[in-house]
Amino acid sequence: MNIKSDKITALYCRLSRDDELQGESNSITNQKSILEKYAKENGFRNTRVFVDDGWSGTNFARPAFTEIMELAEAGMIGTLIVKDHSRLGRNRLVVGQLLEEEFDRLGVRYIAILDNIDTAQGLSDFLPVQDWFNEMHAKNTSQKVREVFKHKGESGIPLATKPPYGYMKNPENPKEWIIDEPAAEVVRRIFDLCIKGYGPTQIADILTNDKVPTPTEYWINQGLKAGNPPAIPGRWVQTCVADMLERQEYVGDTVNFRSTRKSFKNKAKVIRPEEEWMIFENTHPAIIDRETFAIVKELRNNKCRPTREGKVSIFSGLLFCKDCGSKMYFCTAKNFKKEQNWFTCSKARKNKGLCTGHFIREVFLEKAVLESMRRVFWFARCYEDLFVKQLQEKSVQEAKKELARKKRELEKTEKRIAELDKLFMRIYEDNVSGKLSDDHFSKMSIIYEDEQKEKKALAERLHAELDKDKEQNDGIEKFITKVKAITDIQELTPEIVREFISRIDVYAPYRENKQRHQRIDIYYHGVGYVFIPEPEEVEEMFQEHLRDRKDNIKVKTA
Ligand SMILES: [Zn+2]
Repeated sequence: MNIKSDKITALYCRLSRDDELQGESNSITNQKSILEKYAKENGFRNTRVFVDDGWSGTNFARPAFTEIMELAEAGMIGTLIVKDHSRLGRNRLVVGQLLEEEFDRLGVRYIAILDNIDTAQGLSDFLPVQDWFNEMHAKNTSQKVREVFKHKGESGIPLATKPPYGYMKNPENPKEWIIDEPAAEVVRRIFDLCIKGYGPTQIADILTNDKVPTPTEYWINQGLKAGNPPAIPGRWVQTCVADMLERQEYVGDTVNFRSTRKSFKNKAKVIRPEEEWMIFENTHPAIIDRETFAIVKELRNNKCRPTREGKVSIFSGLLFCKDCGSKMYFCTAKNFKKEQNWFTCSKARKNKGLCTGHFIREVFLEKAVLESMRRVFWFARCYEDLFVKQLQEKSVQEAKKELARKKRELEKTEKRIAELDKLFMRIYEDNVSGKLSDDHFSKMSIIYEDEQKEKKALAERLHAELDKDKEQNDGIEKFITKVKAITDIQELTPEIVREFISRIDVYAPYRENKQRHQRIDIYYHGVGYVFIPEPEEVEEMFQEHLRDRKDNIKVKTA
């Protein structure tokens, strides 16, 4: 007895023009009769035939297929049967995702008769191979699918089945995500805590202590389906927080194909490599601004674990040993006063022979960084033109040669591309006029095409790199805008440190006049290392500026 007999058994046929060329075996009539025979013999009832005639397997916006998915979403489809797996689609990534996630979630049993696939029986190991085979069949697949999904993404349709915590489906249009304010507030708080220097474990503890409901509990309270509540009620776990800190969805982007499940039997989620993700920007409102997200990402990459005592430093993760390039470790103890906290080169700590400690106290850093920031900000505010000029000169000097080289290379590449076009035209004409044999022509055209492809990719890369150089100027501008928004800093807060500083290099200490000296280089977001003249030098510069003006006036009046 078929348990799902009240639900529709969808018999799906698809025919594309490619299939037509292969003869009768794939014709709609043939597919239909196979499906109907199979359904009848295996006791499937309430059958309904869905046909997409003339639709390619790489395109998922097919009308009948869409209808099936909509019915499935409404819980009305019990089983979906196709003649063979390639009827469903010819893209491994998409078909795989459909099978593994969508059908499973929607409770749809999926049968591909000729391939011997029945999800009720578990998937065979042979399936990915078959998926590959189908993929090979379609040309230009990825491009087309990308376009379909791009279209989907741009119209605000993420492939994820459930919006992440902080969002909800728009009740008026479930395909659209809107901000779920109470949850979004928690998301903002989590990012904020991370910027303040707290790690996922500590953030989870804070939320637990504050009795903030976990996402699952929150959804259950809202009457939504949400899986199992946490084993200990109200207990936030570190992995959940860490996962949220990495979700690009929070800046308003849709990220599709981020993860997959190993198989039907093994539900463990596997994160796909980032280059397989499909990211669509600004598909829904942002909860976290891009800058904050980028800072958090950077922080997470340089994971700064709190010490065993649970203490963190506002500099954790920002400090690097100038000599070996290793991260500097924050060292503290439970009964330490703040004055006693210090940093040391992590390599030296592991093995004293590999590097020297570069020992530096946290309080000393605080003083030095505050001093540097005040001077840099003051300088940027009062001598904006000079500041910008200096930075531009620095970046120009560094980048000038590189830029010139890239420009030359780009010019050369573009010239070669044009040349190849001409060469191709010539051999084409020679071939048409009979001067060049077909065999020769096809060999040569392959060589030209390959080179063309290679050069085009190179040109694209060079263009991107040249654009990036322009971004340097944006960085300076952004930096100045941020500086102008700040009046005066009395003390360092974690927010200010994270907002402005990207990295601090710590030099080995040295002795001079019986005093310990230690140099640090501070790098700022957007502008990098900033050289600020000493106050006396600034005064001199100012006087010089005044003299110049006087001289100019004298010259004019003379
Ligand atoms: Zn070192």
